[in-house]
Amino acid sequence: MMGQAEAILNTYFGYESFRSGQQQTIEHIMQENNTLAVMPTGGGKSLCYQIPGMALDGTAIIISPLISLMKDQVDALQALGIPATYINSTLTPGEQQARLAAIEAGEYQFVYAAPERFESSAFISVMKRIPISLAAFDEAHCISQWGHDFRPSYRSIVTSLKQIPNIPAVIALTATATEEVIADIQTLLQIQDDHVVKTGFERKNLSFHVVKGKHKQTYVRSFMKEHQDESGIIYTATRKQADALQEQLVKWGIPAAKYHAGLSEEDRKAAQSAFIHDEKTVMIATNAFGMGIDKSNVRFIIHYAMPMTMEAYYQEAGRAGRDGEHSDCILLFSPQDVQLQKFLIEQSLMDDDAKQGEYRKLQAMINYCHTHSCLTSYILDYFGDTSNYEPCGRCSNCQHRRERVDITEEAQMILSCVKRMGERFGITMTAKVLKGSNDSRLRSFRLHTLSTYGILSAYTEKDLTERIHFLVAEQLLGTADGKYPTLQLNQNSVDVLKGKRTVWMYTTPIPAAEETDYRE
Ligand code: ADP
Ligand code: ZN
Repeated sequence: MMGQAEAILNTYFGYESFRSGQQQTIEHIMQENNTLAVMPTGGGKSLCYQIPGMALDGTAIIISPLISLMKDQVDALQALGIPATYINSTLTPGEQQARLAAIEAGEYQFVYAAPERFESSAFISVMKRIPISLAAFDEAHCISQWGHDFRPSYRSIVTSLKQIPNIPAVIALTATATEEVIADIQTLLQIQDDHVVKTGFERKNLSFHVVKGKHKQTYVRSFMKEHQDESGIIYTATRKQADALQEQLVKWGIPAAKYHAGLSEEDRKAAQSAFIHDEKTVMIATNAFGMGIDKSNVRFIIHYAMPMTMEAYYQEAGRAGRDGEHSDCILLFSPQDVQLQKFLIEQSLMDDDAKQGEYRKLQAMINYCHTHSCLTSYILDYFGDTSNYEPCGRCSNCQHRRERVDITEEAQMILSCVKRMGERFGITMTAKVLKGSNDSRLRSFRLHTLSTYGILSAYTEKDLTERIHFLVAEQLLGTADGKYPTLQLNQNSVDVLKGKRTVWMYTTPIPAAEETDYRE
């Protein structure tokens, strides 16, 4: 059976061998097991359903939330001589009917369908009547309420699918690997543990960088000078930011397009096409851009502001380097980004439990920006990939690793200050107490009477804030979840206080003079 799959891989797709996880996934599907494939972006998920779809009799139904992606995939299959089509709202009712009739006549091996198709009884009844090889759920994390891109309409397809008894196996595909999402998909689609295929998440051709304390526009400008003619995406936090930055880049003579949900569909299409065809090398966009964009030569992804979660970050950053060539993923951090994300969570309509969950994810994102450990290791650890603990040697923390300084004594002072403050305050207030600031709120809580008041007065408040962030990022100090996370000691803190553990920090490579400039 695998011989056949390999033959298809060679003859139709022209690839020599399977990539990690593909063969296993294909085997499970061909044996009619519901299967979940968890692979990073660019890992080769499409072949996992395309090959069994070709090997098995009947029509494969591919459910995708992305209309733009559907057409591309269908075109690609047709170019290989494989009969494929799509059915979605971009077609007129007449065209839809004609396609349904052709599907019923068995003309297609692959049918790409948007989620809302499953609300159509005409579609469902055709599905019930035709032989089906498999059903694939692309971007399957969208069915999970824990996913960062939950779509209720996607989740309700699960119920519709149950009305179509002639589906031998369902395959779910995602690049989101958090435990909660995986468990949710497994339960919804009845996928056994044995049929979850998870590949390593490391993308060896990507270098991750966190840039702090630099003027962002200036940074982008000098980066562009060094990377002329290279294709890249700059993600902004808001539409307004995207508009402003694109205007600025164009003024500098950089061919930049923009994409966000505030533009007309026409404008978005034109921008996307200009970018895909390298007429515009740089795309300035909000997170509305990208899901399903299959552009292989994206050399850099710059996040102009910190995203809300590591899931969102890794997925967006992962759009770089699909061709396997070296690419850079740069996050420009400023403390204001944190405020914006907190505001967005606060304003959202989620219930309190969900908000707590979002604050927790946000904290993991903030920690990524403050850790001194290898960024690649941090990401892999976050996604539960424990296959490799070696520092990557490529990320900004690995590259800028210079002098190692023992800050155990300072750490002890900070931790004991947190303890004396009753573990009831956040980072800003703790830094003020350590500094010995003359602050009326501080006084109203009588924090100036503590023995740790002013104990680190030789430092600036900003330095102290940075050190506390560092302790949190390294999990040497805990935080309670919430909008204003209060600092709390954890087991590691106790070990540091007892002198059982040394705390090392790496001197930062950023020149002090530039540090204060966070203005935009
Ligand atoms: P994903 O959906 O996981 O992001 P894709 O399915 O779009 O990834 O695949 C990414 C790229 O890798 C595509 O250009 C695809 O043709 C290529 N690819 C997939 N499988 C293989 C393989 N076994 N050998 C070589 N290239 C592959
Ligand atoms: Zn590293």
